[in-house]
Amino acid sequence: MKRYLKFIAIITYLLLLLSFAVFASDKYVSSRYSVYYHKQSCKKALKIDPLIKVIYNSPKEALEAGKRPCQLCKPPTEVYGKEKKPQEN
Ligand SMILES: [Zn+2]
Repeated sequence: MKRYLKFIAIITYLLLLLSFAVFASDKYVSSRYSVYYHKQSCKKALKIDPLIKVIYNSPKEALEAGKRPCQLCKPPTEVYGKEKKPQEN
């Protein structure tokens, strides 16, 4: 019985780690057939079929692949993300 509980604890811990890694990582996703890229937490990103999902490590990578930022989740673009910050001032 104790062994079983330990097993459950380890699985829970791994799942937590995994979900943390997925949502905290600075990655962006797109569908192979879409022109837009999304934050991983975007509603539309969650609907992308894993078989056609493309993952980018940075907005720049997505832009270079010809993708445009999604209008819904508004992922950053390398160009505006660093130099221009519209929310400030
Ligand atoms: Zn989106």
